[in-house]
Parts: sequence; structure tokens; C-alpha cells
Amino acid sequence: MKIARFEFNLFGENTYILWDPETLDAAIVDPGMQTSDEEKVLADFITSNGLHPVHLINTHLHLDHTLGDTFVSSTYGLDLEAAAPDDFLGKDRVAQARLFHLDFANLAPLTIGKELHAGDTIKIGEGELKVIAVPGHTPGSIALYCAKDRFVLTGDALFRGSIGRTDLPGGNGDELRRSIRANLLTLPADTTVLPGHGPSTSVAMERSNPWV
Ligand SMILES: [Zn+2]
Repeated sequence: MKIARFEFNLFGENTYILWDPETLDAAIVDPGMQTSDEEKVLADFITSNGLHPVHLINTHLHLDHTLGDTFVSSTYGLDLEAAAPDDFLGKDRVAQARLFHLDFANLAPLTIGKELHAGDTIKIGEGELKVIAVPGHTPGSIALYCAKDRFVLTGDALFRGSIGRTDLPGGNGDELRRSIRANLLTLPADTTVLPGHGPSTSVAMERSNPWV
């Protein structure tokens, strides 16, 4: 599978596009486009590479990871795929914005069209992602693991040398550290970690993450 990373919005959030280079089927993960310029960057990438978006997936439903959800959903006709315990976050993004004293337009409630569960397999052309539960940053946080190509998208659970904050609604620090130790650091050591913010890292490197 091929991967492109985009950094969008004032939170510096990582949006990923994953695609099968043979079929050109693509998944858009955590679309964070805040402005029409950012929407154009994503749409132009899809057009110029001839991709067919077949999945809109969120690792969790925090505001900065969902600012582009409505655009992706309406432009490509895709239902949101995410884990049900984060539904309350998607339903009230205005409340999330208020926590940061932000006043964004167009924060329509999000509806999960397809609930994802731990152990689910998501097909992207011939490629496959496995859903891994990593609750703690939010109750419905998931990671997306590609065993064949040895990478995992960790959302805001695990960053390079750091972990997600747990002081927002539904956060739980003990649960997050447990999730990371049990479900991420047990992946093969050479797995590339692609986080929701900041640069990539590896499972091997994060086994000495001081926050875990
Ligand atoms: Zn988050």
C-alpha cells in the first residue's frame, strides 16, 4: 500500500491517504482540512493520482481530526467509519471547539455510518488494514495496522517519544498506557508508526517511550 501524509489545520494534524497502487482504491484517514485551500490540496492529490476513495476512516472523533469529514463525505459519497464509543464527540463538535475557545463554522454533527470494532479488516483494493482498539485518549480511539507493509496509524494514542493527552472528555491515562503496551508495542519491532501529529517513528523506538 502507498501512503501520503498531509499536515492540516491550526493543530498541525496529520491526514493520511492510503491506496493500492494497482487498483488505485484509496482510504482517507482523519481528514483535517480547515480551509478551502486545504480541501483543494487533498482533492488535487486524489485527482492527479487517479485515486478512487472508497473509505473515510477516523482514528477518533476529535475536532482537529474531523474538520474535513463533511467535505470528504459529500465530495466522494463516503460514510464515516469509526468506533461507536466516540459517537458523543462527533455529535457535538461545537462543544469541542468551545473547549479551545474556537469558533469554527460548519461544525455539523457527524454520524458514524459504519461502526468499526477491534479485529475488523478494512479492504483497500488488495490491501488490508486491521482495526486495533487503543482507548484512553478517547474511549473510541483505534489504530489501523497493515501487517503486510508493516505500518500502523496510531491516531493520537502514540506519538514519537510521547503519548496523547488524556485531560479531554472521555480521556483516561491508565487506560491509554495499557492500550499502548498491550496493543501497539506488541506489534513487530520494525513496524513504522504513523501518528496523528508529528513525525513517524517505529515500534522498536517507542518501546523506550518514557510516557508508556
Ligand atoms: Zn485527539
